Order: sequence, then C-alpha cells, then structure tokens
Amino acid sequence: MDMATQHHEQRLFFSTGARHGEGVDAIDGLGLRPALLARYRDLTRLRYDYPLVLVGRGPGAGTLRSLSSVVDEVLQEIAPQGIDGERLRKHVLRLEREVRVLLAGGAAGRLTELWAEAAPRLAAPGDPSAEGVLKHIAEKLQLDGDVVDCDRAMPARVLAHVWGGAQQRKAAAFRTTVDRLVIKLSDILRAAFIHSQAGQRPDALRASLGGTHRDAFDFSVMSRLVARNVPKDELPPARRRRIEDALAVLKSQPFFPDPRLAERPGAPASYGFRYDNCAAAATAYRERLPKLAEVVKAISIAELEADGAYVEARHDAFFAHFDDRALSADDIALFPDYLVCVAADRADAPENAGMMDMLSAGLPVKVLVEATDLLEEASVGAGHFAFGVRQVRLANTATGLGGVFVVQSASSNLYALRERLAKAFAHRGAGLVSVYAGAGTVGELPPYLTAAAAMESRAFPAFTYDPYAGDNQAARFTLEDNPQPEADWPVTPFEYADETLQRVVEETPFTIADFVLCDTRYAGHFARVPRERWDDAMIPADEWLARDPKSVGDAIPYVLAADPDDGLQRVVVDARLMQMVARCRTFWHRLQEQGGVHNSHAEILLAREKAKWEQARAKEQDALKAAAAASMQAAVAPVAAPVETAPGAPASAPAGAPVPAAPARNPDEAWIETARCPSCNECQAINDKVFKYNDDKQAYITDVKLGTYRQLVEAAEACQVSIIHPGKPWDPNEPGLEELIARAESFQ
Ligand code: SF4
Repeated sequence: MDMATQHHEQRLFFSTGARHGEGVDAIDGLGLRPALLARYRDLTRLRYDYPLVLVGRGPGAGTLRSLSSVVDEVLQEIAPQGIDGERLRKHVLRLEREVRVLLAGGAAGRLTELWAEAAPRLAAPGDPSAEGVLKHIAEKLQLDGDVVDCDRAMPARVLAHVWGGAQQRKAAAFRTTVDRLVIKLSDILRAAFIHSQAGQRPDALRASLGGTHRDAFDFSVMSRLVARNVPKDELPPARRRRIEDALAVLKSQPFFPDPRLAERPGAPASYGFRYDNCAAAATAYRERLPKLAEVVKAISIAELEADGAYVEARHDAFFAHFDDRALSADDIALFPDYLVCVAADRADAPENAGMMDMLSAGLPVKVLVEATDLLEEASVGAGHFAFGVRQVRLANTATGLGGVFVVQSASSNLYALRERLAKAFAHRGAGLVSVYAGAGTVGELPPYLTAAAAMESRAFPAFTYDPYAGDNQAARFTLEDNPQPEADWPVTPFEYADETLQRVVEETPFTIADFVLCDTRYAGHFARVPRERWDDAMIPADEWLARDPKSVGDAIPYVLAADPDDGLQRVVVDARLMQMVARCRTFWHRLQEQGGVHNSHAEILLAREKAKWEQARAKEQDALKAAAAASMQAAVAPVAAPVETAPGAPASAPAGAPVPAAPARNPDEAWIETARCPSCNECQAINDKVFKYNDDKQAYITDVKLGTYRQLVEAAEACQVSIIHPGKPWDPNEPGLEELIARAESFQ
C-alpha cells in the first residue's frame, strides 16, 4: 500500500472516527494503557503514599500516616545499621508488601490487626523465625488506627478522620473553658450555701466535716452558736438565679457535652454534626443557632460572675436582648464544624446550588464533593465530550465566593496534601474539598492510578485557595501541587527498547488524551496504527496541539501506548477527542493565570518594562561610548609623539604626566582608563600601593610588582566601571595563574 492511501485512512479516521481499510485498528480488547503507566502494573510491589493509617491512638492521634512512613520509623528504631539489620529490614518490608496485598484482596482493619494477619503468611516452612520477629515488632508499634487503601471509599473516610481530629482539638479547648466556669460558679454557690442559714444547720455542719471528727462535736450546739446573725441567703435572688441558670445551660449544652457523663443515666443529649446533604446540615445549623446563642450567653455571664465583674445596671439589658443576631465569628468558632459528605450520585444541580448558598453564607461547614465520572459524552451533539464540567469547575467557582477555603485534588494526592487539609479543617468559616476518587472510568487501572492519571493530565488539576493566606491572589491561590505547573502537560523521561533493541529515552508528555485512553468506554476515539505504517505525518498529540491550527495541515495526532506485553504502540486520536483536549487545556490555562503562571496581565507588564529597560540601557551605552571617545581624544590631542615608558615606571600615568597614545600601549601591561575613574576606592582597598589616586583623585597603577596578579584581577572584577585592565602576569611563578588569566580575559 502506498503512503498516500494509508495516510488517507488515518485522515478519514481522524476526521470522522470511521475505520476504513487497514492500519487503523480498533483498540477494544487490546489491553492498551498509556505508555508512561506501563511500569505500574502491580502496585503492591511499589512503596508509595498508600495505604494510609488513620491514626486513632498513640502519637499523632487524628492525623494521617502512610504505611511506608510507619514502617520506616519502626525500622529506624529497631533495625541496626548496615548488614546486621539487613535481614530484619527484609522481613519488615515483606510484611509491608503483604499488608498491601491483603488490602488489594479486600481485607480491612486496624494496623495491628493487619500486621498480625500478614505475619504468619511470611513464615517459611523451614524457618518460622520471620513470624516471631514480626509479631515481636508489632508489640513495639507506637500507634494504631484503621488502614485504608486508595479506593472509592477512601476520600470520605480520610476527610471524616481529619475533621474528627479538628473537632477533638476544638472540644478540648471548649471543655477547658466550660469546666473552669462550671467549677467557679459551683464554688460561688457552695460558698453562699455555707454562709447561709441552711448551711449552718446541724446536718449541713455534720456533712461539711470529715468523718473522723464527726463524733467529737455536738452539731446542734454548734449550729445554735454559729447560726446567729447569719443571712438566709447571702446571694441576692437575681444573682442566684443568673448563676444557676448559666450553670444549668453549661452543664446540659449538647454541642460538646461532658464525656465523663456520657455513660451515666440522664446524661445530656449530644448533637450530631455529620450530614450527607447540604440542606439537612444548613437546617440543623439554623435550628440550633438559638441554643448556641444561649450557651454563648451563659459563658459570657459565667466569665463576668467568676471575675465578680457583673454589673446589673450595665449587663442586664445587654443579656436580656442577647440572641443569635448578637453572635460574632469568634463565638461561632468555639463550636463544632459541620461535615457534609455529598455522595457522588447526589451531587446534582439542586444539591450544588444549596451547597453554594451554604458556602457563600459562610456557615461553619466543611463539604466534601466527590467527582466521579470526569468523562461524559454530552447529551447534545452526539459523540462530543462534556467532560464532567460540573464537578471539575465547581471548586473553582467556590473560590469566587469569598471566605471559603477550597482544596481540590485527586485522591492519589490526598496524603501529600494532608497539611493543607488540616488547615482547611482548622479554618473558621466554610470549606470545600473537591476530590476525584479515581472512579467512574471503565478499564483495568486501579483507582489510585486512574486518579493520578487525572491529575497528571490536567483533567483534574489540584489547587488550593486559602482566603486568609494574604491580601492578594498570589498568596491565596496555588497550583504548586501539580506536576510541572508551568507547562501545558507534565513531561517525563520514557525509556524503551527500539526495534533494534537499542535503549531510547524520550521526554514524553501526559495529556488528557492519555487519560481518556485509560477508559475503555471511549475506545472508539482511538485507532492503533501498526508499526510498519508509522510515518512522519503522525505527530505526538501535544505537538499537534501546540501547532497553529492553520499550519497543522494533514498531521495526525497520536499518543504512545503499551500493550500487555509492554510492546510500544502508537494510537491515533480522532478530532472530537482532540477538541475536548484543547478545551481542557484552555481551562488549565485559565487556572494557570489564577495561579500566576503565564499571567497575561503580568506578562504584558513585564514586556513593557523590559522594553523600557532596554531603551534606557541602550542610551546609557551610547553615553559611555561617547565619553570613552572624548577621553581618548583628550589623551591623544596634546601629545605630539609617543613617549617611551621607562622600565618600572607607572603603567598608567598620573594626571599631567605624558600619556602614551593608545596604539603604542603594550597589551601585556596592566593599565587603567584613569580619565573615567569615578574614585570608588575599590582598587585601593585591595592594594593601596599598586593603586593610587592622582591629583584629580582618579586611580592609576604605580608598579604592578608592588602586588600580585591576583590583586590586579580582583581589582578589575571589583571596579564598578570596568576600567582596570590587568594585562599579563609579571611573575610566572605566582600560584593559580591559569585560572587568573582566564578571569582577566574579559577585562583586557
Ligand atoms: S576601582 Fe575602578 S573606579 Fe574605583 S577607584 Fe579603582 S579604578 Fe577607579
């Protein structure tokens, strides 16, 4: 078949998606994956961020750890350095892998449980020592918690864990305040009781004394003696009522109830703060606001009473009208945040609208939205991609609401973003975490790889918007968690053997077309071209996109793929998919601008400033040239003939002395353009015997032999106007001459 015919077939496929003739093979069932993912066939053999340990006890409770980091820590503690610890290290690393295998097979549990399950699987029949060693190490584990793999359910579990950690910290601070106030108010009431008639009754006196002394006293007599002139109640009724009311509210508040009472009968009720939809969370928040205001009021009254600072004339009226309208952001920040995990199948338009309302109102709520299927064929325009517009752009829209902390990331990257997540959950106002969990595609890739491919290809870029990180967009918005954020597509070295078995390394981009190749539903947008039909008209998809559409001509874009035997394949992409890739690249460019990468305003400004700077520099150089010419004329004009310089005489003459004409100067001798010296003193600071000023306070060289060649070169480098010319060294034995001569070259 001639080249024109085979190219016609590729061209037809590109334009219409139809396969006619040979050389544009369907890829269904070929098991192709992007070439850059070829080496990740078995994730259990890799040490990477997953699985995670949701630390529930021990150091760092409420945080996330990767299994690998826990294992590394254990090894550092127990395995001796060098060869002695090698056997132990091997056992433990095999156990780590075994835990990965267990999880990949569907196992679940806490780290200590999975460790115990994995250890016997590693025992060799003739050598059960490994199991014993590993069980012994398990006892040394400082921390424990559920272990989760990077699967569909992971983002919700991880975020609930991080949220729980943040709530525990809030609860501890809240309980410290409330417990202190409860003790203070109770003390006031107790003291008042002791000083009251009721407190002086015989039974009250008996109860107030320790058991060993009870029989030594006649409490009836004592009561008659001490009860004289005792007030019925030393607390005025209004104050007593105020303190008792505040105490009752603090003891029964359902936001962070006293955990010590949880098991007791009649323990105060406790609110829940986890929801699966925004409407329910917003309703709960609003319904509870009056109760929240009541608790804030009780705390405020208790603080005043504890300090003896409550002034009825001033405070009564204020607290009489205190309700939820009086709450400040500081007040609300004391209380729990709400967590809403919106299931992917509930993230429809009404839910998203409710979420935007809730976020823009600044409620103390953290929302997890999971993007599932990033790739959707649009309902209109058959075969055109809509590309999961709602999910992908939702988080970006939320950055415009003001005050909302937004984190977007693929699930594969959540561990790397743990600090940002912790910050988002510590944020006082509303927060949105948008995660793509690697689900939704149909193909052989595990969720971790699918999620990583989405982020790598810019199909689901990571970004963070922290509304209080600074007063400008550059401080608040960052794209830095993406690979190579300044590029259209990240580029990675890809190594393979060509048909002659020679090693080839190519810088290979990972585009959205590569990501779509992972999803077998869209196999119709690709066609494999057998190696014998590869030609120059096929160009990599990134290169095709980078070309001007008018000059792309008949070129056909392709991506590199690997088959199950790791054979390298070229797969051409049709025009409809390439349109979607171009649209996504445009969206990525917009994000880059938001993140200050290739910002068009900044680039225009920079170009303008650069042009100004170049103009100014050109003017300056012209002025310098003119000054040099004038100086040369001044030096030459009064001299009728060149004057020989006596050996040992100054290489540059002092003012008024005869100056050799330029053509007569020996290029091997050091000299200074004395007339141009602005007297900065740098050369004299290096050697004030070699460099002296003339009567006009301009530098000249006295005798190079009063110093070293190194000093001449250093002076030339230090001179602000580059007028010192070091010439050649006078002492051939000076150390380091080769290097010094090279440095002097640009000053001769
Ligand atoms: S370093 Fe240059 S400008 Fe400064 S005094 Fe010496 S010769 Fe003049």
